[in-house]
Amino acid sequence: MPEANYAMPVVPKSTSRKPSVPRHIVCLTFDFDTQSGFIARGMTTPTPLSRGEFGLTGARRILALLKANGIKATWFTPGFTIESHPQACEAVVADGHEVAHHSWAHIPPAQQNRVDEEADLVRANEAIARLTGRKARGYRSPSWDLSESTVDLLLAHGFLYDSSLMGADYWPYRARRGDHVELGKPYGYGEQSELIEMPISWSLDDYPHFEFVRTPTAVLPGLQSARTVMENWLDEFRYMRQTVDWGVLTYTMHPYVIGRGYRMLALEGLLKDLAAAGAVFMTMEDAAREAQALMFARDADSTP
Ligand SMILES: [Zn+2]
Repeated sequence: MPEANYAMPVVPKSTSRKPSVPRHIVCLTFDFDTQSGFIARGMTTPTPLSRGEFGLTGARRILALLKANGIKATWFTPGFTIESHPQACEAVVADGHEVAHHSWAHIPPAQQNRVDEEADLVRANEAIARLTGRKARGYRSPSWDLSESTVDLLLAHGFLYDSSLMGADYWPYRARRGDHVELGKPYGYGEQSELIEMPISWSLDDYPHFEFVRTPTAVLPGLQSARTVMENWLDEFRYMRQTVDWGVLTYTMHPYVIGRGYRMLALEGLLKDLAAAGAVFMTMEDAAREAQALMFARDADSTP
């Protein structure tokens, strides 16, 4: 029975909606956390805060690189960053990039009750509206952990897409709500919502590859070769191109992580290689709208 409600994204039934030529989209996304993630974890001594502060330097470098390559990207920006570093955020807007929602205080929704989650969501959206002139269309949860309320709240607040789940790689899909999970029982899929999911993966996130993190209970070694990571990321694009006619590949980066010199050089190389391989760069909002038109328009005329 669970299978009956489950519909992973499929290629459109109507061949007329397939792209006439293959089209492989890349979304460069930057989670502009600055100090917010450290503060949310209680790491408020000067050194971790300065680590987040480096994101301002990284952001300047990234903006210059994107401008040099004529690429528009998506910046998931906490309200904290907008209100703490307004000039840095205005520079993102001035260059024509999308500013999307990444909470206000960088607290994962899974750690909040619904009232607190919604209050944080509204506060951050107001900061984005003041910065950009309109509310966010896209959302990414801090630490990629949604609560049971998140999908409903995003729909109630007019969001087009979320980018926090890992159920696919190259095809956006509709986020579900109400999956039933119980130990010892088969999985129960919930209903699909209108929210478009732009899937992500830790393997395509700079943070676990590069950041050295030591806490009282764990060590995240990080510090991998940047060029090796970029080779993996390019291979991910090559595989998408090899296996689907149309798809979206999302890379997730943090200015204070990717902004280090040797990583910036490696990123510069990746962008050149992606362009040579035929990547179409666009903001996540634009990619979600294209997905909506290409993949989900069929819902209206699909009959059982
Ligand atoms: Zn973040």
